[in-house]
Amino acid sequence: MPKCPFCGKKIECLRIYYQEVASYTVYLDRSGEILDRTFAGYEEVKPDGYPICPSCYEEIPIPIRDERDVVDFLKEKYIILRLDDPEIKAQKDNLIIFREKVYKIVERKSELNLLVLKLVEDEIAADILRADLEDKNA
Ligand SMILES: [Zn+2]
Repeated sequence: MPKCPFCGKKIECLRIYYQEVASYTVYLDRSGEILDRTFAGYEEVKPDGYPICPSCYEEIPIPIRDERDVVDFLKEKYIILRLDDPEIKAQKDNLIIFREKVYKIVERKSELNLLVLKLVEDEIAADILRADLEDKNA
């Protein structure tokens, strides 16, 4: 289960903010005055914000393109960590070991002191990288 990089609590769910746009249709009468406005519906606007930690309400700085990104975050395929997170067991170049798994650094958010990491899902590659990392940090 992922943890919030700000409050450190486990994140079991995320609150996602997104925008919707409402539209209506305008009809004019013969004299050019507005005769009626008819509600036409809602259109979803692509979410381009960030999910919110349900404990501390900080914005988790991962971009949400669609719900797959949310699922990947909750499954810890993408994680956000502080640079000094005590659960980081080894680090070399752009790779770290976190909770026995190997992650690749995809972005450094220096102003927030955070790392955005992606899980190395290829198990053979992860094993080779883990052995190398553990050797270097022994
Ligand atoms: Zn939090």
